[in-house]
Amino acid sequence: MPTEVEQSRELARAFWAGKPIACPRHPGATLTGSFVQTTFADHIFLTCSRGKETLTIPQRPKQMEFYDQQVEGFVENLQRGDAILCYRCQAKMETAAKENPETGVTDYTFTCTRCFSWGRWVGKPELAKIGKD
Ligand SMILES: [Zn+2]
Ligand SMILES: [Zn+2]
Repeated sequence: MPTEVEQSRELARAFWAGKPIACPRHPGATLTGSFVQTTFADHIFLTCSRGKETLTIPQRPKQMEFYDQQVEGFVENLQRGDAILCYRCQAKMETAAKENPETGVTDYTFTCTRCFSWGRWVGKPELAKIGKD
């Protein structure tokens, strides 16, 4: 089950990519939406074709995919036990990690809990070395 943050991330990604957006609650239904700019809270507003529900995804700043080096920096912070904060909005990042116990390779996905910017990094965490002296 995706977390709420992961769900919003995927909805925003599909929206910005111009792809059909599947409703998380109604299999087979799609969401249509628009980007709404307001003075204080830009957001994506989505409406389901089947249910009457609407979804609002905050988008200030706007979602982006982090660069590889930025994501590697997150892995390094994680290794050091440092807080992982979004480069764009300084909010807390949610971390998902799947480790392969045989190879030691871990598949990380980091998602901002505020703007839903995200990045993925696959490798051995001890080899993340961006910014090392
Ligand atoms: Zn729906
Ligand atoms: Zn953010």
